Amino acid sequence: MKHSNIAIFIPHMGCPHLCSFCNQRNISGEKSIPSGDDVRKICSSAMSEISDKSNTEIAFFGGSFTALDRGYMLELLSAAYDFVGERKFKGIRISTRPDYIDDEVLSILKKYGVTSIELGAQSMSDKVLEANERGHSAKDVKKASLLIKQYGFELGLQMMVGLYQSTESDDYFTMCEIIALKPDAVRIYPVVVLKNTRLGELYQSGRYQLYDFDKAVEICANMLYMFEFMGIKVIRLGLHASKDVSENAVAGFYHDSFREMCESYIFRTRIMTLLKNKKGEFSIEIPKGSLSKAVGQKKVNIEYFRKNDLYISFKENSELHGYCVSIKEVK
Ligand code: SF4
Repeated sequence: MKHSNIAIFIPHMGCPHLCSFCNQRNISGEKSIPSGDDVRKICSSAMSEISDKSNTEIAFFGGSFTALDRGYMLELLSAAYDFVGERKFKGIRISTRPDYIDDEVLSILKKYGVTSIELGAQSMSDKVLEANERGHSAKDVKKASLLIKQYGFELGLQMMVGLYQSTESDDYFTMCEIIALKPDAVRIYPVVVLKNTRLGELYQSGRYQLYDFDKAVEICANMLYMFEFMGIKVIRLGLHASKDVSENAVAGFYHDSFREMCESYIFRTRIMTLLKNKKGEFSIEIPKGSLSKAVGQKKVNIEYFRKNDLYISFKENSELHGYCVSIKEVK
């Protein structure tokens, strides 16, 4: 059964920081602050609309949940908790900063039915965290992750690709460090530079140069492949499409189909590796539902193969999974 979230956006108010990339109000698209009553209204209408409640979580997205004023945090939690349990929703999901996790707050979250905690790690390089004014260290991410797992919560980690002063090897280092923490899920966010942010200033003054788009796709595709190979779900790759982001993005890797582009890259590289030094016509079976990924947007993979004297036709096979392919030469 597919997991779903009832998303409730908490604007920037929970967070005393201003990271280089963050313009939280633009991302959440909301300026109003939800009250406990608002949460009750949202959950109660979702109760009548959603049939598969056991796979649905109430998700507080946006700000740093555990950095909220304690009274307000409890108001939100107790409102949501009324809708969690048997024949109600599965649990509550929150996102927060690693330096706002400790025993006390985790005990509160446990008591109020929180099931999943996502930490914005962003990078595991202290140099990069500092350059992007995150206000926490990689050690904080490790400490908070271990504590969250000890308390039995699902752990999600969010990382960014292409931050200011992050090299390709820093980004891959972050991926490796995150794999070592064994989260249940990750979100990969290739950088999107927004107006009115520190990154925006750095970019416009020429002090911040980003990867080119294809390089960002290549890095993110390699990460997607590695995380999945290690059994870690990638629940998001690329920023959600929204009017606010498209209106405020000045540079970076923002594309509605970013994940699919990465998946296409994975199919292309796998096929090229398997057909190394070969030319001619091939029929390739791919997992069911993968045709558009294997072909690529605007048939980019087909074109790529053709330029390498490979003439490929695809056929879906429901017995194949992931990025498995079965290749036959057409004689
Ligand atoms: S910690 Fe999160 S909410 Fe706070 S400034 Fe950074 S990105 Fe924005």
